[in-house]
Amino acid sequence: MRKILIIGAGQSGLQLALCLQAEGYDVTVLSARTPEEIRNGWPTSTQLMFWPAIDREREYKLNLWEDQVTPVLGVSAVVSPEPAVEAFSFYAKWDKPANSIDQRVKMPAWLELFEQRGGRIIYHSVMTSDLSGLVPLYDLTIVAAGKGEIVDLFDRDAAKSKYTRPGRNLSAIYLHGVADPVDNPDPRLRANFRPGDGELFYMPALGNSGPCGIYLLEAVPGGKFDLFSDRPVPAEHLRRLRALAAEHFPWEAELLAHAEPTDPRASLVGAFTTTIRHPYAEVAPGSYVFGIADVLVVNDPISGQGANNASHAAGMYTKAILERGSGAFTPEWMQQTFDTYWAHAQNSITLTELFLEPLPQHGVDILVAASQYPEVAKRVADWYPFPATLHDFALDPQQTAAYLQSVAAAH
Ligand SMILES: Cc1cc2nc3c(=O)[nH]c(=O)nc-3n(C[C@H](O)[C@H](O)[C@H](O)COP(=O)(O)OP(=O)(O)OC[C@H]3O[C@@H](n4cnc5c(N)ncnc54)[C@H](O)[C@@H]3O)c2cc1C
Repeated sequence: MRKILIIGAGQSGLQLALCLQAEGYDVTVLSARTPEEIRNGWPTSTQLMFWPAIDREREYKLNLWEDQVTPVLGVSAVVSPEPAVEAFSFYAKWDKPANSIDQRVKMPAWLELFEQRGGRIIYHSVMTSDLSGLVPLYDLTIVAAGKGEIVDLFDRDAAKSKYTRPGRNLSAIYLHGVADPVDNPDPRLRANFRPGDGELFYMPALGNSGPCGIYLLEAVPGGKFDLFSDRPVPAEHLRRLRALAAEHFPWEAELLAHAEPTDPRASLVGAFTTTIRHPYAEVAPGSYVFGIADVLVVNDPISGQGANNASHAAGMYTKAILERGSGAFTPEWMQQTFDTYWAHAQNSITLTELFLEPLPQHGVDILVAASQYPEVAKRVADWYPFPATLHDFALDPQQTAAYLQSVAAAH
């Protein structure tokens, strides 16, 4: 039986561990934190996952929360050029719902499930110096440590990495008691765009004390929304969010009137530079580790792609490992496997860049058209689950013009 070591117990590491375990592999997981530590810790994400990722979890019976989590039916967007002004908006449903399950709920349960199914977990925060002794004991070692320091093992790929600093400063808070908008009560992702200052997102979720909602603020560094870098406690975080919403997005402030943090650790603050790294590293002569998900391709969360990519990578790596049979997991195999993953993940980087950069005129034209024509709104909504569809018409001004003219002519 082939022996696989997975370092890191997050979306990619645990999904991969559970899938390989189901396929009969001897899998060991090294986790920096115990289930109780994760449950009682701070949130790490807003983790909205789209239906292709949820389907992947269904395939291996990892979708343990579908009867508790609110299905997120679609996305609505408001473009607000100045405080309290709504220039235009649109709403479109996805073909199947998305959902957001707090990683403080999901990861402890998946750790326990992996153990119940006979898996081996070692609770230890791995250091680079541990690897030369560990890696030769396994057929393959995957580093799934997300944004942990150990990822420095993998060199930044300067040719693929456009950014050297975070495009946004992030703050998020999990809340109970957020009201639904009366004009459109469908549970959905709500996006408020303020060119030059940042974005405010809301999504329904399942938190550690039941159904809840999460606000994620993406602040342009140094701009008007950049108010949370001192990491306020959740009550103060909520007070500042309310004040910001009242001034800039009053339609959101109304919904926050009776909101409360879900727990004493309901908030998070951070900033991440969108970065791509080389896929493998040599830790001792002839011994290699292979990275996955955020270790290799880390996105600013503005486009909601990281956990979805982690799921995609776990699914893809599972297939590649199965197809390898009894062959050696060589650096060439690692590079090829990553290249296949990158063919998908690079589209999520393109989507992230589209959100982070000032919107070009043809991008504005697309959003205006989305507010007029439901079929354009649907195409925009589908960028989230299928970022490759950006290439259909959105990246080239001439293609955009031709597509929008064809839509207008059909009406
Ligand atoms: C504010 C915010 C909002 C986000 N919102 C979304 C969203 O809506 N949709 C979306 O798709 N993505 C979102 N993301 C991104 C998403 O959360 C990540 O991309 C995803 O969780 C990455 O999965 P992963 O498996 O690579 O790493 P993680 O899920 O981060 O898991 C890494 C694990 O490795 C462990 N670890 C680290 N170092 C070590 C070590 N040395 N030894 C052992 N274990 C170690 C960590 O403790 C952790 O458990 C968001 C991120 C943030 C910060």
